Amino acid sequence: LYNMVQDLRGNIRVYCRVRPSFRAETKDVIEFIGEDGSLVILDPLKPRKEGRKVFQFNHVFGPTATQDDVFKETQPLIRSVMDGYNVCIFAYGQTGSGKTHTMSGPSGGMQKDRGINYLALEDLFHISKIRSCASENGLNLPDATMHSVKSTADVLQLMKLGELNRAVSSTAINNRSSRSHSVLTIHVHGKDTSGSILRSCLHLVDLAGSERVDKSEVTGDRLKEAQYINKSLSCLGDVITALAQKNSHIPYRNSKLTLLLQDSLGGRAKTLMFAHVSPEVDFFGETVSTLKFAQRVSTV
Ligand code: ADP
Ligand code: MG
Repeated sequence: LYNMVQDLRGNIRVYCRVRPSFRAETKDVIEFIGEDGSLVILDPLKPRKEGRKVFQFNHVFGPTATQDDVFKETQPLIRSVMDGYNVCIFAYGQTGSGKTHTMSGPSGGMQKDRGINYLALEDLFHISKIRSCASENGLNLPDATMHSVKSTADVLQLMKLGELNRAVSSTAINNRSSRSHSVLTIHVHGKDTSGSILRSCLHLVDLAGSERVDKSEVTGDRLKEAQYINKSLSCLGDVITALAQKNSHIPYRNSKLTLLLQDSLGGRAKTLMFAHVSPEVDFFGETVSTLKFAQRVSTV
C-alpha cells in the first residue's frame, strides 16, 4: 500500500536540500527552487551566462523547509520497510552543508528539530504492532555493535553513544566526524497479516564530507584517509548510476561501503540520496560538484 506511489517513481530518488545562509550580508547562489524539483544556481561573481546552472531532482527543499517537511517526503519510503523492502537513505554533501542536521538533527539538542533517524524510528515503532526491532550502529565493521531496542528512547540513547564515539575520535584526528561515514541500520523482523515472515532493513547513512582535499595540505595517513573517502563516495556514485541505468554489472565490490550495503542497493531495494548544498557563494565550486554528482545518480 505504502509502495504504490513509490513504485511509480522508481527505486532511486534524489532529493536536494539547501541549508539557510550563515552570511546574510552576501548574496547567495540560489536563484530558483521549483516545486517540481528544479533548482537553478547562479555564481554572482561570474557573468550570468557562465555562472548559471540548472538541475532537476525528485524534490528540492529550500532553506525554510523544516525537519517535518523533509520527513513527510521520506515517510512513505521508510514505511515500505514494514512491507518487506530494504531501504537505504544517504546524506551526501560537503562538510557543513547540513548532512547531520537532516539525519540526526542539530548536535546536542536532540529535543528540537530531530532528524530522519529519530523520526523514522518513532514512526516504525508507532505503526508496528509487534514492537520487536533491533538496531545496529555501524555495519559489519570492527567497532560495530548491535543492540535490541524496545522504544524510541532506547534508540536515542544509542544514537547519542554513536555521536559521542565520533566526537571522541575528532580530537585524535583532525575533524574526524566529517572524515567518516556513520551508518545506523534498523533490522525489522515480523509477520505480515497472512502470517508469512518478513525481514527487511533500513540503512540511514550520514556520509563523510564530499569536499576535495587539497593534496598539498595533507600527507601520510590523512592523505590515505582522504583518498579512501573519495574512492568510497565515487564508488557509491558508480553503483547508484549503474543501478539507475539498469546495467547488468553493478560494481559493488569496488569499495567496502557499497559491499556492506549491497543487499540494500539494487534489486527490490529502494534508495534515497539527499544532496546537501550550502547557499553561500564561497562554496559555489563544491555546490556545483555535489549537484553534478547527485544529477548523475538521479533518474529524473
Ligand atoms: P554536515 O553534517 O554536512 O557537516 P551539519 O549538519 O553539521 O553539516 O550543519 C552545519 C551547521 O549548519 C550546523 O550548525 C547545523 O545545525 C546547521 N544547519 C544545517 N542545516 C540546517 C538547516 N536546514 N536549518 C538550520 N540549520 C542548519
Ligand atoms: Mg556532519
